[in-house]
Amino acid sequence: MKLLVTGGCGFIGSNFIHYMLEKYPDYQIVNLDKLTYAGNLTNLKDVENNPNYSFVKGDICDPLIVNEVMKEADQVVHFAAESHVDRSIEDGSVFVRTNVLGTNTLLQSALANNIKKFIHVSTDEVYGSTVEGSFTETDNLNPSSPYSSSKAGSDLLAMSYYTTYGLPVCITRCTNNFGPYQYPEKLIPFFISRLMEGKKVPVYGTGLNVRDWIYVEDHCSAVDFVLHNGNSGEIYNIDGGNELTNLEITYRLLKMLGKDESSIEYVEDRKGHDFRYSLDGSKLEKMGWKPKYNFDAALEQTVRWYVENRWWWEPLKR
Ligand code: NAD
Repeated sequence: MKLLVTGGCGFIGSNFIHYMLEKYPDYQIVNLDKLTYAGNLTNLKDVENNPNYSFVKGDICDPLIVNEVMKEADQVVHFAAESHVDRSIEDGSVFVRTNVLGTNTLLQSALANNIKKFIHVSTDEVYGSTVEGSFTETDNLNPSSPYSSSKAGSDLLAMSYYTTYGLPVCITRCTNNFGPYQYPEKLIPFFISRLMEGKKVPVYGTGLNVRDWIYVEDHCSAVDFVLHNGNSGEIYNIDGGNELTNLEITYRLLKMLGKDESSIEYVEDRKGHDFRYSLDGSKLEKMGWKPKYNFDAALEQTVRWYVENRWWWEPLKR
């Protein structure tokens, strides 16, 4: 199997490549990544000489380079995206370019090259916020931020390639990930690194916004499961079963790092801040997939990783 992974130098993509190379020693993986601020070759340093792995630097919006890598591939797992909500609130342009135009460029090329399976990795944020209940895959999309709106646009495009041309597309929508190699602008590594630097952590608004959390390796195993068992034209929610307020996460991190609530600084709420994301993951569960990591144990393991790998995140904060 020849697998093209886009965005493999980012947080989830690099964890996914590690996971797949370990699990399937006979797969060939090509990683196409533009190396934006969020892409880091160090994340894959330990596999750079693996004969089953190769890296191509390139933009998913560039049809020439996309075609070059696509013609060698059987299947595609598409992670590449601009992914940080706060940056999208500052300026959504690059989000539209990469997430919408880039996805379309990949889909066009996948069609022309007869790709056998195209996994489009998306997010729970496309459903928007809900006070009660959990979203199922048939619910309407109601995104709030330029980030989630551009992802919703890419989801619709991906599904249109199935409906219009029969391209074998699956869409996955996952909740908030945490784990090693996450860029230290995202809540958990941002807070860990701030606390390690002896600084306060900025909590938006009241801190009562709710997110569901999943350990990144569980997300990787779910994408692998969909790659092998998913039906074309289907959407799969991936939930972690760990809904927590931002304050609950913050208190856990404070405790794990030996700090107290004097390290919290309440700051003005994010514009358009979604109150709660919640997914119904029963579709995938009925097919036989469920997360295996315990939340608190995985969070502790993650804190330990950032404590032990200060060399990895420190240069990214300069
Ligand atoms: P990330 O920001 O850590 O990594 C994104 C990667 O994509 C980087 O390596 C970057 O260099 C690359 N990239 C960006 N623009 C590119 C372009 N134009 N061409 C080629 N490569 C480009 O993101 P992440 O957190 O690993 O998220 C990966 C995917 O998973 C995204 O599609 C995101 O929407 C989705 N997702 C993330 C989460 C989460 O909690 N992080 C949850 C659900 C879904």
